[in-house]
Amino acid sequence: MDLGLRDKSIMVAAASRGLGYGIAREVARAGARVCIAAPTEPRVHESAQKLREETGAQVISCQFDALDPGSILDWRDTTISQFGGIDGLVVNAGGPPAGGFDDFDDAQWQRAFELTLLSAVRMIRAVLPSMRSRGGGSIVTVTSSSVKEPIDVLLLSNVMRSGVTSLAKSLSRELAVKGIRVNNLVPGAMNTDRLKGLMEAQAEKTGQPIDKLWAERAATVPLGRFGEADEFGKAGAFLLSDAAAYINGETLVVDGGAMKTVW
Ligand code: NAD
Repeated sequence: MDLGLRDKSIMVAAASRGLGYGIAREVARAGARVCIAAPTEPRVHESAQKLREETGAQVISCQFDALDPGSILDWRDTTISQFGGIDGLVVNAGGPPAGGFDDFDDAQWQRAFELTLLSAVRMIRAVLPSMRSRGGGSIVTVTSSSVKEPIDVLLLSNVMRSGVTSLAKSLSRELAVKGIRVNNLVPGAMNTDRLKGLMEAQAEKTGQPIDKLWAERAATVPLGRFGEADEFGKAGAFLLSDAAAYINGETLVVDGGAMKTVW
């Protein structure tokens, strides 16, 4: 299937590794020009170099932090100056810290709001003028299965990502008239540093070996394993592409069948 991504200009946030990197690689493989962004230098530039070597595509990189509005605008401006405009955006950032209700004070709630929800608002706001002037675009927000089934140890994620989901659904209705689609992409348990970090914390807390916890958790997935970043990336590339031209305001789950919810 031709995704129709050739020469499209796509911005992928938090893409120096993990799920963002997985999406960036798949859209680059499909012939898009990609501008990745992440907080740490030189890591983000090394990741862009790796993407160029792996795909042969035009890939550039920017240092940005989802908590820093100015850096979001710089990333947008770099993309426009190098690629002439923006056709696709992947909203993504590092996840908020794990914990339950008694673990967080106002400052931590505020930080989670800015990291996960306000950064989504800012990224989307930044790209809309270019998408509107080009007559359309595709926006994909990376959220979590916690938006459908709250995860006990991830209260901040549960709450903030539900906000992102509502934001995307609302915008999908508001922006459709301009040819701009907005969809959510939901990872289940994916084999990345984020999952390893959460499992390490659980191992430390419970005193159980991480290998045992890893195997037990993987066994809860009907497919019997965690997902890989490139599997997530393919779903992201699809939503960004013209192949998904009539999919708008949807939430696509990539979790190996782990969630039991029907909707
Ligand atoms: P990861 O730890 O592998 O990668 C995180 C990426 O986010 C890195 O590129 C990092 O540089 C970047 N990042 C960190 N802090 C940032 C900030 N302040 N601003 C911008 N970028 C920042 O994580 P991942 O598995 O790729 O997860 C991506 C998102 O998906 C996270 O929000 C995570 O919570 C969420 N998620 C992941 C899983 C999973 O199983 N991996 C499941 C559900 C949700």
